Amino acid sequence: MPASITAEQVAERLAAVRARIERAGGADVRVVAVTKTFGLDAVVAAVAAGCDAIGENYAQELVSKLAMLVERPPVHFIGQLQSNKVRMIAPFVDVYETVDRVSLARELARRAPGARVLVQVITPNDDGFVDLGKGGCSLRDAPPLVDECAQLGLVPIGLMTVGPTGAGETTTRAGFGAVRRLVDSLGLAVCSMGMTDDLELAVGEGSTQVRVGSALFGARPPRR
Ligand SMILES: *Cc1c(COP(=O)(O)O)cnc(C)c1O
Repeated sequence: MPASITAEQVAERLAAVRARIERAGGADVRVVAVTKTFGLDAVVAAVAAGCDAIGENYAQELVSKLAMLVERPPVHFIGQLQSNKVRMIAPFVDVYETVDRVSLARELARRAPGARVLVQVITPNDDGFVDLGKGGCSLRDAPPLVDECAQLGLVPIGLMTVGPTGAGETTTRAGFGAVRRLVDSLGLAVCSMGMTDDLELAVGEGSTQVRVGSALFGARPPRR
């Protein structure tokens, strides 16, 4: 058993993350603490340390951790979401960040009517570097999907993207910049981009929300 993660540790690391955000020019950037594969101790510590929300990737893991808590923190679902898992997580989730297809939006509208959602887009990449396996729709498909979410009674509040990990800085910046411009052109408020390794680039291009795991909790234990 690894030593448990304390609120003091996370508060110190959160301060360092906020300092990185500030140096990158960010103001009012929210920090979603990504607790996937960490225990309930990390969730509790992140909330106590003042993180803005918890981010979880796996439905079963999310439910087994969050069901233990009497006071529920704001939870963002940030993993690839299968429609048949929506019902199970709906009681615990405040924001669904990974809506990338109409079928998923329909299931959310049925099981979590009125939920706040982000449409996940693939960060465009002018190198032709293709980044599969992270989910997301193209920038071109995002506006109609945002409309569809609204028509279904969901509340689309923004876009989310996972950066083109492994691409160079110029490509990454250009991709993040394109996502932020689309957020603005759709009149949305939230641009969720940036993780431990690329948060400066994302904040520099206008991220309003970063999703940070290892910078807060250290190296991730393997998934059980
Ligand atoms: C795991 C994960 C993160 C956090 O990654 P770190 O590199 O640990 O900060 C952010 N967003 C998504 C979608 C993730 O799956």
